[in-house]
Amino acid sequence: MPETSDKELDIAIAGAGILGTSVAYFLSRFQGLKIGIFEREDSAAKHASSRNTGVIHRPFYIDPVKKPFFAEASSKSYSLWKDFASEFTLPWHQNGTLEVAGDAIGEKTLRKYARYAQMNGMEENEFSVLDISDLRRQYPQINALAGFYSRTDTAVDYGLFSSKLLELAQASGVKFFGNHSITAVSEDSDGVLFTCRTANGAKLFRTDYFLNLTGTGSLKLANSMGLALNYGLLLFRGDYWRISNEYTPGFSFNLYTVPRYSRFPFLDPHFINRWNGVREIGPNASLIFHDRAYSGSGMNAHNILESLNTGDVNSKIRLLSNPEFLRMLETEWESSKSKFAMAARLRRYLPSLSSTYIGKRGLGGIRGSVVDSSGFVPEALEFRTEHSMHMVNYNSPGATGSPYVAFSIIKSIIQDGYVHLKTGEVKKLKPENWEKLASGIEMQF
Ligand SMILES: Cc1cc2nc3c(=O)[nH]c(=O)nc-3n(C[C@H](O)[C@H](O)[C@H](O)COP(=O)(O)OP(=O)(O)OC[C@H]3O[C@@H](n4cnc5c(N)ncnc54)[C@H](O)[C@@H]3O)c2cc1C
Repeated sequence: MPETSDKELDIAIAGAGILGTSVAYFLSRFQGLKIGIFEREDSAAKHASSRNTGVIHRPFYIDPVKKPFFAEASSKSYSLWKDFASEFTLPWHQNGTLEVAGDAIGEKTLRKYARYAQMNGMEENEFSVLDISDLRRQYPQINALAGFYSRTDTAVDYGLFSSKLLELAQASGVKFFGNHSITAVSEDSDGVLFTCRTANGAKLFRTDYFLNLTGTGSLKLANSMGLALNYGLLLFRGDYWRISNEYTPGFSFNLYTVPRYSRFPFLDPHFINRWNGVREIGPNASLIFHDRAYSGSGMNAHNILESLNTGDVNSKIRLLSNPEFLRMLETEWESSKSKFAMAARLRRYLPSLSSTYIGKRGLGGIRGSVVDSSGFVPEALEFRTEHSMHMVNYNSPGATGSPYVAFSIIKSIIQDGYVHLKTGEVKKLKPENWEKLASGIEMQF
């Protein structure tokens, strides 16, 4: 039996990625609440929130009808991040993204982007559509039929953003429990009980409200409370390869291509110009069997069983017997094993990118994609009980959207009356437009 601890909290946040730390920061303004943020690693953002492409995505490519959650979050979060980076002197490199099409289907997709950009509130001067003659004139080194240029896409470091949010939350009284891996969660009429594995053995905590924001771990924790049992989880690693300084492509934006497999939620690899001058190609999407398999596939009997046991098995089997999906898996694996295979995928659009310019591996990142009986689930999913909320399938552009998603989560749990503000006192948040949003919560409360 684990040792019973007297740790009692008003709100427990599970997971210190960019979403958990954004929530912690918003909540830290309410004085008198006992808030804990629990993380299995020793510090914030050791996984997807640091291991990503590092782009603040403008919502030009997000269908506002099929993906309203990400469209709104991405649109509303841009100015929040911009002010945050300026207030705390964090990297903010607005270098733009050019997405290109190599065939007629891709061209059609780019025309849709212009509509989505408008529907999602982008200003007209933020984007332009380029036809083949524009491309040949402006970027003769790029081989494509058409392009969509989003001027305000921005290169950042989400790992630094997360660490800053945690630091600010801690300074306002939020307690960080590093090296606390949550292993079991249960609910009674008063709240949630959960057990953490720590270096000193198991510890038990009680909280009025439990927020499960554990990224690839969230489906398993939700399942342990009897939620989301009709969904399965597949893990994919996106690998990156560095480009040597000798290669000068003649542009500083990110070069994306219209995804070939629109039925699957993965983008083809990009040419990335990061905020610090590092250039990389990637990411791909290689199927793996462990949520920290940063090399290899993590495939062994234990991990396969564990992987099959997370969520619904049938939905995974259905997808894994789809020949188109299996063919895609093969191509993706090739570019994880071989930098030459990754370069070849980009060379179709950037013929000068010879394999001699490809250097060592970058920092790969892992996403957990949720599947159900219809295939991949396109949006993030929220599950709730009386005293808990679980965010599942929170994938790209999740880092972009996290301030607004954090605000929406807090607003809803306060409005539903699950979290009781114990004092009238509030601390001000920085920057000013985060504060304005947070004040909106109180006004509605
Ligand atoms: C390759 C790749 C590229 C991407 N590029 C972009 C991009 O350019 N722009 C963009 O907006 N988005 C991008 N994304 C998506 C974005 O990175 C994620 O949506 C976002 O980081 C998810 O944040 P999170 O806080 O939900 O999860 P995470 O960052 O995974 O954080 C969850 C935390 O929970 C912890 N945890 C897990 N289980 C437990 C447990 N049982 N107990 C305690 N702690 C636990 C983990 O250690 C982790 O720190 C990319 C993702 C990948 C994989």
